[in-house]
Amino acid sequence: MTDSPLFYQAGPALPEVSHADGVTLWDTAGKAYLDGCSGAIACNLGHGRLDIRSAMLDQLDRVAFTYRTQFESAPALALGRALVALTDRALQKVFFVSSGSEAVESALKLARQYFVATGETQRQRFVSLRPSYHGSTLGALGVTGYRPLEAPFAELTRASLKVPGPDFYRHADRDDGAHVDRVLAETRAAIEAAGPESIIAFVLEPVGGASTGARLLGERYLKGIRALCDEFGCLLILDEVLTGVGRTGAWFAYQHYGVTPDLLATAKGLGAGYYPVGALLARDDIVDEVMASGGFQHGHTYAGNPLACATGLAVIEAIRRERLLENTRARGEQLGAGLRALAERYAWVGQVRGLGLLWGVELVADPATREAFPAEQNRFAQLTALAREEGLLIYPRRTLDGVAGDHVLVTPPLTIRTDEVETLLERLGRAMARFDRALA
Ligand code: PMP
Repeated sequence: MTDSPLFYQAGPALPEVSHADGVTLWDTAGKAYLDGCSGAIACNLGHGRLDIRSAMLDQLDRVAFTYRTQFESAPALALGRALVALTDRALQKVFFVSSGSEAVESALKLARQYFVATGETQRQRFVSLRPSYHGSTLGALGVTGYRPLEAPFAELTRASLKVPGPDFYRHADRDDGAHVDRVLAETRAAIEAAGPESIIAFVLEPVGGASTGARLLGERYLKGIRALCDEFGCLLILDEVLTGVGRTGAWFAYQHYGVTPDLLATAKGLGAGYYPVGALLARDDIVDEVMASGGFQHGHTYAGNPLACATGLAVIEAIRRERLLENTRARGEQLGAGLRALAERYAWVGQVRGLGLLWGVELVADPATREAFPAEQNRFAQLTALAREEGLLIYPRRTLDGVAGDHVLVTPPLTIRTDEVETLLERLGRAMARFDRALA
């Protein structure tokens, strides 16, 4: 028991943060940490940005908060237009929120309201992947495929139909195309058994984030899911809470694959750790239908306030001005190559995978069978703790719902420089060497 009034998760006591600059954070004892995971894949511009500070102060001096039903604001309009432009106008309407869970929750509710408006009220269910993570509110939890999080609330949530996504590491035949076709055939069969006319939408991350350790789904799979949605008349909701706003080296991850969603949820990197701001982007005909039927029955008090939107706008401008998509792709290749070189030294690294500056390292007990470490051994936490001792923050996640190994995410700010990637890899290398000695 500590005397702290705060509670989040079980775990060891944490150091107290003092200050931060660029990709480095310091605790009050003076220890420095390289932020190898952008907090929780949120601080995409790094820390201590004077440009963001100044945009926020300018807005604070004008007006911090107005309620969306009382005033329009220039920052909200500008951020809305900027987000639409980032999709090349594939999605034309924006609904602001303050978190990823709220963005997903809003997507689920807008999709359902669309079918209520069109008279297809029998569409009552979502399809999503296992494993997956889409947020902590009850609706978002319903589409989340991660049993430890689902279990206590099983009776309170409306669980989606859960299907497996492709797993290019474990599938046996080594033919990725055939593997994808088989996964898609299984998904089709599951939807046909449930009744395609009962499905509202398919919800998924175009590149896996925290729940899968950056598992790539690939173009063939995503196009296959898009085609299934079109055939069955349901919507495609992409959760780009983690992947959106530059993380994978494109503004949105779907843009790598030539697949367009009907609705898209984004958050984390949009506020870049400076202010909570998220958004639901949607096709205008979907929104028009809902608005014509009396409006969207959903909203959150802080959504779209001027300070939040001024922050999001400044973040997008900084990414553009500093050509951070290019940096993300270049530093991502450097980081990926370095991680692969480290992985070659250790049999317990099952796979290194990623895109842009979203990298996952999967840990396995047996590389031949690709068997995971037993969950109770908490290997992900051990590696994360060793990295922290070496002055590096990485993002840990437990065994993937019993279907894959532990993993860690390496997702530094999009601003990271070449020499800082080298420092990150050196520190991770030291942590991995110590982890290896502890296993022996
Ligand atoms: N979706 C995905 C893919 C996420 O990674 C997260 C956060 N880890 C969420 C939704 C929920 O976002 P938030 O924590 O801001 O509610």
